[in-house]
Amino acid sequence: MKNDHAVAEILAAYRLPERIPFGVELAPVMFRVSYRGGRWEDDGLVPFGPVPVNPASTALQFAQQAFEGMKAYRSASDRPMLFRPNLNWRRFARSAKRLRMPVVPAALFAEALSSVTSSLARFIPGGRGQSLYLRPTLFGLDPHFAVKGSDNFVFLVLASPSDAYYSEPIRVMVERVNCRAAAGGTGAEKVGGNYGASLLANENCVAHGFDQSLWLDPASRQNIEELSAMNFMAVIDGALHTPALSGSLLEGVTRASLLTLATHLGIETTERVMPVDELLDDIEAGRCTELFACGTGAIVAPIGTIGEADGRKLDLPEVNRMSLQLREALLDIQQGKSVDTFGWTVDATDLEGLTRYIEAPQRP
Ligand SMILES: *Cc1c(COP(=O)(O)O)cnc(C)c1O
Repeated sequence: MKNDHAVAEILAAYRLPERIPFGVELAPVMFRVSYRGGRWEDDGLVPFGPVPVNPASTALQFAQQAFEGMKAYRSASDRPMLFRPNLNWRRFARSAKRLRMPVVPAALFAEALSSVTSSLARFIPGGRGQSLYLRPTLFGLDPHFAVKGSDNFVFLVLASPSDAYYSEPIRVMVERVNCRAAAGGTGAEKVGGNYGASLLANENCVAHGFDQSLWLDPASRQNIEELSAMNFMAVIDGALHTPALSGSLLEGVTRASLLTLATHLGIETTERVMPVDELLDDIEAGRCTELFACGTGAIVAPIGTIGEADGRKLDLPEVNRMSLQLREALLDIQQGKSVDTFGWTVDATDLEGLTRYIEAPQRP
């Protein structure tokens, strides 16, 4: 292919920087596909760099954009392993449909992931929690101000060799004014527009001495939904509680995996409507002992403090008990340190196997 030579040269010259904080270092190659006239036209692996985007494109003017976040880990046998990529593909398809974009076929999604991951395999750091973070992205190209979608799109898979995202216990502020998503809106899809809607509130909570917003449901503003990029979990009377899927919060792969793992470890789990004031009462009463957030990037991020814009704050008595147990159990599977009894990991270099894995309709 036409880019092979340039890509080979760039990879030969590439060196991992000494420090690779999460999501900062961008890999020197990416996978690029165009969608034109109803057909996907695959440019394959190309040097990482700007793609031409018309300033009037629907991506920029109407946020016609969707993305995914996933990780390839270096396994004990040095193979780059993807974690449950079938769930990312399904969610990417849902997000694309919701924004009136074409669904990237499973085989193309698999090829893009396999190609990027295989080419960068030797740059995947192998330390605890280190990975190659992958960012499939799809957006509309057509330039017009008429409120309709595009007919032409670009699909990219970007990558970032990353250190474990380790966070000190975070402080969350209950967001009682803004919402990140509307009922019937796009909160259940992974789209850039949801993030745009969350940026101001997050800055506001930093100004109040917190780290991140804790979002409530858009209809009643009483029930906990999630953080801006992570799902929310609480340990109450020793059981694991998380907000049930509401249609306006994102169904995280990490959330689903932790619920399964917890059950497997003998921990009781409950998905339910979680009124925030009831949770605050449970913390004060000593029934709720631990809070944490979860997502692909951080895996598990303990929450040390929950509070309000008026300065009221509650500290959690425990920060790294169940959250650490679940984080370690999940990482052991992701990094091939324990037996993958759930069949959650798949070799990214085996394109046929990966395609079958992603396409399988009945895979949980
Ligand atoms: C990506 C994301 C999550 C976490 O999902 P994972 O699949 O676990 O990475 C949670 N909430 C929002 C809003 C997200 O965008």
